[in-house]
Amino acid sequence: MAVTDEVPLIDQHCHAVLARDPDRDEFAGGLTEAAAAGTRDRWHSSLGLAVRRWCAPVLDLPAHAAPEDYLDRRAELGWREVTDRLLRATGVERWFVDTGYAPSPGLEPGEVCGAGHEVVRVEQVMEGVAGRPDSPAAVLDAFRDELRDRAAGAVALKTVVAYRSGLDVPGECPSDRDAEQAAQAWLRSGGTRLTDPVLHAWTIHEAIRVGAELGLPLQFHTGFGDDDLDLREVDPLLLTDFLRCTRDSGAAVVLLHCWPFHRNAAYLAHVFDHVSVDIGLTLPYVGVRADDVLGEALELAPFDSVLYSSDGNVLPELHHLGAVLWRHHFGRLLDSWLAEDVLDVDTAERLAFGVGAENAARLHPRLGRPTAR
Ligand SMILES: [Zn+2]
Repeated sequence: MAVTDEVPLIDQHCHAVLARDPDRDEFAGGLTEAAAAGTRDRWHSSLGLAVRRWCAPVLDLPAHAAPEDYLDRRAELGWREVTDRLLRATGVERWFVDTGYAPSPGLEPGEVCGAGHEVVRVEQVMEGVAGRPDSPAAVLDAFRDELRDRAAGAVALKTVVAYRSGLDVPGECPSDRDAEQAAQAWLRSGGTRLTDPVLHAWTIHEAIRVGAELGLPLQFHTGFGDDDLDLREVDPLLLTDFLRCTRDSGAAVVLLHCWPFHRNAAYLAHVFDHVSVDIGLTLPYVGVRADDVLGEALELAPFDSVLYSSDGNVLPELHHLGAVLWRHHFGRLLDSWLAEDVLDVDTAERLAFGVGAENAARLHPRLGRPTAR
């Protein structure tokens, strides 16, 4: 038995699942970050192998069941039963759900098991208030009010600036005057999808202020994601000035996903005490290399700065794989460290419990501690 087997998990970044049966193309589309199912066999990948190896037995199939058999069995059981089985088997106690993207119809994991908490996307708040008030200054004020209102009931804030203008966010907050000018141009162009770098920077600095006031971390998408982003613009090292300038802000920053820049993210967590690193989303995609990726993150990241998440989205298979692959690969890594006498069992347990739940709980003191080790 590995030291990770019984750890209660806080899934500190995930999304809702699809509340109906997906068709075959939709399911295949859920196994890739490419825009659509496309022409390639999406099952013929590390993630496809993981579904067959780890999810098939949860649906009473042999491990490595063929994709066709898996999809037939899934349809036979129905999405509700499949979701119930896959989510309950994760051992997740708390789900932090990014509500900025949700499938339709969607079901939040906390409605199935454990407790759910909202992660508020700051760009969505800005896009939601655009056009309501009549002047740029009034839009900025409305954003401030709305962000505080939404944040009061949330567990974290999140920015997707990586997808919009990239992670080169300035250390200093743009002046209100510059932000108003940027807001004016944005509202003139329709005030829909926010892409202006100045307005992004202003909203992110405002989110840091709100985070510091209310004790909420600000999560940044970094590293790979779907083909909407430019991987050249999402290395977390681009945030270096921003992190240097916010180190004494009182707000915590969480770098999500990070691959292939997880070593850079680990360095940032090493030098900035307010930075934590999460390699959710990565594990199911990197297959048997997950031990190495976890090991690389732990080269420099202080052990109390590393967080678990699944980034599960649409398919409950992804929430499930996030948890079982974390337990399997992190357990194997810690077993190898124990075998080499790198640490003792108590410290290995502390490390597993920390990454699985306690480090996230420390960032969210209002939630209380996870149930014992
Ligand atoms: Zn996400």
